[in-house]
Amino acid sequence: MEQFYSIYFTIAFLIIGLIFGSFYNVVGLRLSKKESLIFPASHCPKCNHKLKPYELIPVFSYIFLKGKCKKCKEPISIMYPIVELCTGILFAVSFYKYGFSTDFILALLLSSLLMIIVVTDLNFYIIPDSITIAFGLLIFIYNIISKGILDACTYAVYGLIMFGLMYALMMFGNALFKKESLGGGDIKLMGILGMINKPIVSISSLTISAFIALPCSIYFLKKNKDKTIPFGPFLVIGFILIMFLGIDTQDIIDFLTRA
Ligand SMILES: [Zn+2]
Repeated sequence: MEQFYSIYFTIAFLIIGLIFGSFYNVVGLRLSKKESLIFPASHCPKCNHKLKPYELIPVFSYIFLKGKCKKCKEPISIMYPIVELCTGILFAVSFYKYGFSTDFILALLLSSLLMIIVVTDLNFYIIPDSITIAFGLLIFIYNIISKGILDACTYAVYGLIMFGLMYALMMFGNALFKKESLGGGDIKLMGILGMINKPIVSISSLTISAFIALPCSIYFLKKNKDKTIPFGPFLVIGFILIMFLGIDTQDIIDFLTRA
């Protein structure tokens, strides 16, 4: 019986994730352009055709409309359904792994942060401060609920430590490559992600992020020369991987002392 409910809720969170993903597309695009989140209603950016409810169904509308605006046939970016689908999958996996728990809330927060940053960083090469501040506050509140106020403050200091470390890395990178290595958005993002784990775990997440980003950045550099590489999404992916794999401080100490 319990198994049945687990599958039922996993599917429910897949659908909820699809809907949230659709919203994150709007949030990411409009915040980057400093537009209102509510007005105007969703429309085709080319012909201003106002989207009807059946044109707003996550993933399915894209398939029905064959990836084009119904009125002017302007192609719709494939990123819309990809963001929707990924958010759905991340929400479902988060529930499947953690069930109803505080870890589940953190997994939802990180998944949401990742998908919004994918939209802003890939399209505009920025992470809006409003996003960093909002999620920084949410993570801090999460820490108070799951760890208590005292530990929440300790973890806020960990965030500051990671911010400082990332800042130092940027200065080092700038001196080494004689150009801007890391964006200010990445440093602030590291500051809020640093509030999740002890610094040693955060540094491991950062290392994983860099390893995943490496092959991707070669692709980015080939595609558009001397453009900055959006590192933000990789940063969050590193933290999500560490979380889903359940790696903690002790695992890392064991790994380091064994070598
Ligand atoms: Zn149109």
